[in-house]
Amino acid sequence: MEIYVLVKQVPDPEAMVKVKSDMELEIENKYFTSYFDEIAIEAGLKLKEKFGGKVTVLTVDNRRIDALRRGISMGADEAIQITDPALEGSDQFTTARVFSAYLKDKPFDFILAGRQAMDDDAGIVGPAVAECLGIPHVHSIVGLEVDDQKKEAKVTREVENGRENLTCPFPALFTCQKGLNTPRIPLVMNVMKAMKAQIKKVDLASLGLKPEEVGSLGAKVKVQRYLPPAKRPPVKMIKDDFPENVKTLVKLLREEAKVI
Ligand SMILES: Cc1cc2nc3c(=O)[nH]c(=O)nc-3n(C[C@H](O)[C@H](O)[C@H](O)COP(=O)(O)OP(=O)(O)OC[C@H]3O[C@@H](n4cnc5c(N)ncnc54)[C@H](O)[C@@H]3O)c2cc1C
Repeated sequence: MEIYVLVKQVPDPEAMVKVKSDMELEIENKYFTSYFDEIAIEAGLKLKEKFGGKVTVLTVDNRRIDALRRGISMGADEAIQITDPALEGSDQFTTARVFSAYLKDKPFDFILAGRQAMDDDAGIVGPAVAECLGIPHVHSIVGLEVDDQKKEAKVTREVENGRENLTCPFPALFTCQKGLNTPRIPLVMNVMKAMKAQIKKVDLASLGLKPEEVGSLGAKVKVQRYLPPAKRPPVKMIKDDFPENVKTLVKLLREEAKVI
């Protein structure tokens, strides 16, 4: 079974992120693998353990490969970084276009992705890759069973007040949601090995893509401006005694904060 997993490195939740200018964020250099992508890696490894085959982790990034190394340390067989200066200014659409250009000639059974990246949160890249490749996709799965004979996958999704069971022929793309599995914690020895693992680099020319089809030139969604969160007003202490303090609080919530 050939399985590709799309993995993105995202700022650690504790990393400092500041609005540097209207068009630029300053992000502390602390990155980790988006959690939903670790769930996708785990799902890929489980399929490999059951049916044999290969798991390849793929990223589009010009600077970092942390998620690829994480994938290798968890047990992925191969890691590929798609990188090119023309990718600067990418959006969800161009990112999906790049992945699909890489995958279109490859034999695969499953492409797995996270349900959303933990930084930009669009939840678009997975389904967009499937659309570009013309294969079925199911978003946010929490259950996966594969019948290799019938070439059919049974997947489960959470819906309001219940669950939805679907069947889907493969090749297919699934985006993975919390609850599908618990990602394994790699052994220290595997983490060390992954630090030395070879990462294959792929550029745009080898994918047959032109610079104007990707990055800022091909992007359909453009950031207009970054805005820092509004400054919080100073804390107001209510000095009255009960029950006057409650009356004052309600008045302030209604007239100043306008939340009730
Ligand atoms: C080279 C590069 C330059 C960029 N420049 C800019 C910029 O200038 N301005 C700006 O606002 N944004 C920029 N971005 C961010 C980019 O717009 C978003 O990362 C992209 O649109 C995906 O959106 P998302 O992160 O919300 O992904 P989602 O759609 O939420 O991702 C869902 C899933 O898709 C997969 N996935 C998504 N992105 C990647 C990836 N890159 N590699 C591997 N798997 C992935 C993961 O499995 C993820 O869980 C850049 C990204 C790249 C790679």
